[in-house]
Amino acid sequence: MSYTITLIPGDGIGPEVTDAMRRVVEATGVKIDWEVHEVGEGAIKRYGTPLPDHVLEALRRNKVGIKGPVTTPIGGGFRSVNVGIRKALDLYANLRPAKCIPGVPSRYEGVDLIIVRENTECLYAGIEHDVIPGEAAEAIRLITRRASERIARFAFEYAKANGRKQVTAVHKGNILKLTDGLFLRTAQKVAADYPEIAFNDRIVDNLCMQLVQRPHEYDVLVLPNLYGDIVSDLCSGLVGGLGVAPGANLGEGLAVFEPVHGSAPKYTGQNKVNPTASIRCGAMMLRFLGEAEAADRIERAVARVIAEGQKVTYDLKPRRDDPTAVGTREMAEAIIEAL
Ligand code: NAD
Repeated sequence: MSYTITLIPGDGIGPEVTDAMRRVVEATGVKIDWEVHEVGEGAIKRYGTPLPDHVLEALRRNKVGIKGPVTTPIGGGFRSVNVGIRKALDLYANLRPAKCIPGVPSRYEGVDLIIVRENTECLYAGIEHDVIPGEAAEAIRLITRRASERIARFAFEYAKANGRKQVTAVHKGNILKLTDGLFLRTAQKVAADYPEIAFNDRIVDNLCMQLVQRPHEYDVLVLPNLYGDIVSDLCSGLVGGLGVAPGANLGEGLAVFEPVHGSAPKYTGQNKVNPTASIRCGAMMLRFLGEAEAADRIERAVARVIAEGQKVTYDLKPRRDDPTAVGTREMAEAIIEAL
């Protein structure tokens, strides 16, 4: 049996890390037909749009996709392809585990957090306009009960299915009384359906301080879109950085896996960055497909290579200018060897 998976290499460092992921996934022996598609700047040149319809159709048809990061122009230019995919396919839950891996340099040990980020609304609804061009601009932050309920339920169901003990709703309900008030009240109502899981809430700024001081007090975090994005990078920093942080965008019967990190354009084509986040996305994808054994083997191989500390990229060395750091390809090779 073989799976057909939509593969979007992305741009910047995307093609290098997705190539590493692809080779590691193939080395498990699970048979995959990769249907490769281009988005972003390259797609504009070829198809006149950064997110062609045929790419969305392929993601819908194959049900499972995996992608590298895609560059989004800042302060102008086309809208984010990443946000476009999540919205078009209603991939409403962004699941981002942040867990310490032995051997990864970090200030903490034993941090094990799950971020559940609402993926379709908040400031990412893209409702933005000039009020007075050059003088004032306005963005609308949309929060609905429906999306808040759906994401809260996802967080509790995830907690229940994965032996998690606590869900924390994160908000700024003291200032944004209507929008974040609605998010919080909805989460509180959903929590009542899950008496076996502890529930609490935190104001987002306080949560950031507490995560830095006492990350072990948290378990599953559920957040509106923008806080979820920011807190994801913070949590990646707690467990060793963006180079190791995977993620999944999940909807009804559809899934697109992608690392937390972006396209890091300054490292493009240098065979330098860490492929771990992308490779762990490959493991998450295999688990989603029901290939738990192959996923476990990848996780163990990654952990072993990192714990040995030899064939790892610069960001996993105690000093970032360590001359013994290896490249993206070499680290992927070491993981394949370990498999
Ligand atoms: P970034 O995540 O690309 O890079 C920030 C820094 O993190 C890098 O300079 C690098 O030091 C480190 N880093 C990132 N990935 C790494 C890896 N695999 N190994 C080692 N170190 C790594 O964030 P940015 O610079 O803010 O964004 C660059 C571009 O990526 C922007 O256009 C942004 O819109 C886009 N972006 C895309 C996605 C996505 O495709 N889902 C996500 C975030 C950002």
